[in-house]
Amino acid sequence: MATAPYNYSYIFKYIIIGDMGVGKSCLLHQFTEKKFMADCPHTIGVEFGTRIMEVSGQKIKLQIWDTAGQERFRAVTRSYYRGAAGALMVYDITRRSTYNHLSSWLTDARNLTNPNTVSTVSCCTNLTNPKHCLLFLEASAKTGENVEDAFLEAAKKIYQNIQDGSLDLNAAESGVQHKPSAPQGGRLTSEPTPQREGCGC
Ligand code: GDP
Ligand code: MG
Repeated sequence: MATAPYNYSYIFKYIIIGDMGVGKSCLLHQFTEKKFMADCPHTIGVEFGTRIMEVSGQKIKLQIWDTAGQERFRAVTRSYYRGAAGALMVYDITRRSTYNHLSSWLTDARNLTNPNTVSTVSCCTNLTNPKHCLLFLEASAKTGENVEDAFLEAAKKIYQNIQDGSLDLNAAESGVQHKPSAPQGGRLTSEPTPQREGCGC
């Protein structure tokens, strides 16, 4: 059987950050599987999920890194910021401390993402003060409300930045890969191997 060509034009790399237990893995699971997983196990280090979305008529593969929020994994998490085109910061509306810690997550996102990646998008679930965020959405991994839009709005902004030239695709660690014209084996060599099938939890 012939190898299928890529069925997407771009890959955008996202990172999901925020304290432990705020719903990062559930958000990713709801986005990739369209299901709420109430008993999602704790994320160890960093996990990974993908989904292809249509943005402005282009098929875009979102490659989403779901990080562990605990301090002991912070160093591991930090190594994933570079080369992220989008950063989704998440907090739990029922736990004030997770909101207070957003400033520290934001500092890491600002310091550790590529400065050329102007399209770094912070999409803060349930955030009531969006002054630091390019995008703000109140979302629920439980009901699925706004989950789609949290990822889509960031992708639209990144795609817009590509179109208007403010995001240079050739820049190192832009967080975006254009689909190669001659795919080999139907799989990008730089694509990571998921630690787990399907679920990013
Ligand atoms: P993470 O550590 O940030 O990845 O958090 P998890 O995704 O593992 O979720 C932590 C807990 O919050 C789990 O018990 C989930 O069932 C619960 N949870 C996650 N998202 C939501 C949500 O949108 N609404 C409600 N009510 N609970 C949620
Ligand atoms: Mg998790």
